Amino acid sequence: MNSPLDILTLQPPEAIARPAQPFDVRRIRADFPILGERVRGQPLAYLDNGATAQKPYAVIDALAHYYATQNANVHRGVHHLSQVATDAYEAARRKVASFINAASDREIIFVRGTTEGINLIAQTFGREGVGEGDEIIVSEMEHHSNIVPWWMLCREKGAKLRVIPMNDRGEFRLDAYKTLFSPRTKLVSFVHISNVLGTVNPAAEMVGIAREHGVPVHIDGAQAVPHQRVDVREIDCDFYTFSGHKMFAPTGIGVLYGRETLLESMPPYHGGGSMIQHVDFDEITYADLPNKFEAGTPNIAGSIGLGAAIDYLNSIDFDGAARYEAQLLEYAHAALRAVPDLKLIGTAKHKVGVLSFVLSDIHPHDAGTILDLAGVAVRAGHHCAQPIMKHYDIPAATRASLAFYNTREDIDALVRGLHKVRKVFG
Ligand SMILES: *Cc1c(COP(=O)(O)O)cnc(C)c1O
Repeated sequence: MNSPLDILTLQPPEAIARPAQPFDVRRIRADFPILGERVRGQPLAYLDNGATAQKPYAVIDALAHYYATQNANVHRGVHHLSQVATDAYEAARRKVASFINAASDREIIFVRGTTEGINLIAQTFGREGVGEGDEIIVSEMEHHSNIVPWWMLCREKGAKLRVIPMNDRGEFRLDAYKTLFSPRTKLVSFVHISNVLGTVNPAAEMVGIAREHGVPVHIDGAQAVPHQRVDVREIDCDFYTFSGHKMFAPTGIGVLYGRETLLESMPPYHGGGSMIQHVDFDEITYADLPNKFEAGTPNIAGSIGLGAAIDYLNSIDFDGAARYEAQLLEYAHAALRAVPDLKLIGTAKHKVGVLSFVLSDIHPHDAGTILDLAGVAVRAGHHCAQPIMKHYDIPAATRASLAFYNTREDIDALVRGLHKVRKVFG
């Protein structure tokens, strides 16, 4: 497709969806226009997928198609376009439900992203159910968005955080986890896949342990959904959150999955339009799920874009993509280990394509700047996970994070860039 945004040639997303075919990275790359861009005169090697992933034509076109032919507000209008927009919005919710195998689309709440999803749980379930002296279990390898909302809640309520420790490979110490439970434990909240270490945590096993204590579990799935199939019923968690933009969908849209009975019992989060049944100055009744948690005009285009990203993942042999990515990770590990004085952070047995490292005492920002000149996009810093930096006693790290559209050439460009970094700063 030469001109994806030309509305005259625009195809509705259904027409673009293809039957699943064996994974072929060349063909896949052609679906992502930005991968053909040059950066600083070099071909782009985009290795910052942990921060945000690129978007396929299928998603870009779905947004253009929505705005060009369907735009209206949802849930309210009696007119044709409003009904079309509402149908598209609710169809996206059903796609999300089936993508993570939720029991019902009433369990899918559209939010801005993982961060808002977690804050929603903290400010509703948490505010109502956590009191003085209660405890919430988090872990040492959390993103700040799965620490700060709980810390704020604990400060307000006089509750405290208990922290699951990890070993130096970046794996949870499950023996220690088991000892953290007490009769005051109100919630366990941990990351499915670490954005710094790539560790894939044994989610179902950890939920099983929490179940023995009757404690509900939230899982931060921001890095899991782009890399592997997630089945919330198989994991048996109570809450699961993720962001659209890390799974090839637009920014500003994300999902909170919650077990229906729990969501039913929770108070609303934001007050406003769409989340009520009846408003009187004496008495307000709230809407049913999922509207109860979706006050105001939602991100309609974003949710449709998320639905298109899910259609896209279903069309490309996602399992084949995960296998391809695992092979690429092997290749990248070997290539980085051959770089002198490079220390990998995060060497769990079970991990996905995230490669954090430090290079002798060269500051990660300096490394990132030289890599940028070579067209290699990586991230440098604390990656919103300062407790992990503390564990390894480093202020920051450089991170290359993979998606299924990356290639060995991208890794080779990274390694060439790192040799340049050593020459400049070594
Ligand atoms: C990115 C990320 C978040 C936060 O996601 P937002 O899209 O910024 O809300 C939370 N947890 C993990 C593991 C992440 O990688």
